[in-house]
Amino acid sequence: MENVENKVIIITGATSGIGEATARVLAKHGAKVVLSGRREERLEKLANELGDSAIYLKSDVTNIVDMKAIVKLAKEKFGKVDVLFANAGIMPAGNMSELDLKGWMDMVDINIKGVLNSMYAIIPEFYQQNSGHIIITSSRAGTTLVPGNAVYCGTKHFVKVMLQSFNSETNQEGKNIRTTTIYPGAIKTELLNHVVENDHKKMVEGFYEQFGLQPETIANAVLYAISQPDGVDVSDLVIRPTFEG
Ligand code: NDP
Repeated sequence: MENVENKVIIITGATSGIGEATARVLAKHGAKVVLSGRREERLEKLANELGDSAIYLKSDVTNIVDMKAIVKLAKEKFGKVDVLFANAGIMPAGNMSELDLKGWMDMVDINIKGVLNSMYAIIPEFYQQNSGHIIITSSRAGTTLVPGNAVYCGTKHFVKVMLQSFNSETNQEGKNIRTTTIYPGAIKTELLNHVVENDHKKMVEGFYEQFGLQPETIANAVLYAISQPDGVDVSDLVIRPTFEG
């Protein structure tokens, strides 16, 4: 596909769900994908499936050394990086009164600091080549308030506002860097595995079961944003099940 073929795209959170589906869709359309995640056996399996289109590195977004290493690997193997898809995230949901301090801090570490680490690693490359595209997976929780998910909601608002602000800086600086924020609604992935068993989880699971979309839906949105001609910036994409309020 034009403007996708031979682009080199780093995908964080490529071991399952949205990231995995996106890797498949982008590789199918001729992109080179650089897979990041902690579960190495899954990375290996996916990379084997995708053949010459894919490389991988076991990497943790909370570790800046890992994020620099994945950029280095992409450049060594494919010569450049065109797109960062900062997608890794977790959602150990629950009311704040449950005092799940670890869950809160993990969300800050992965959903916020993880995105910042990956941007820290890629920004020098994009500035040097005066081109690039940063795509972030926020959430519908980044567009509204979600009871039972306050900290997650905060992390997803953070990345939205941060990327929009970054975009205004690159515009001012005359840098040719595109930005896209994706806001998925309920998507059938492993995301709910982090939620402890409670009534809230049962309700959410029921909705996901009935109405949740397949991760390929989001992969196709990422493909759309990347495939636009140079100079076209797809800033925000909300993709949700029809019956999601
Ligand atoms: P999954 O749980 O299937 O995927 C999450 C991915 O994040 C995995 O590949 C996981 O890899 C990776 N990840 C988690 N922690 C780390 C870490 N410390 N370092 C590196 N990678 C990490 O869920 P989704 O595909 O649904 O989630 C992808 C994104 O979509 C998340 O940001 C999520 O918040 C967002 N989202 C999802 C929605 C949904 O309904 N599913 C709705 C809205 C947004 P590994 O464990 O191998 O490291």
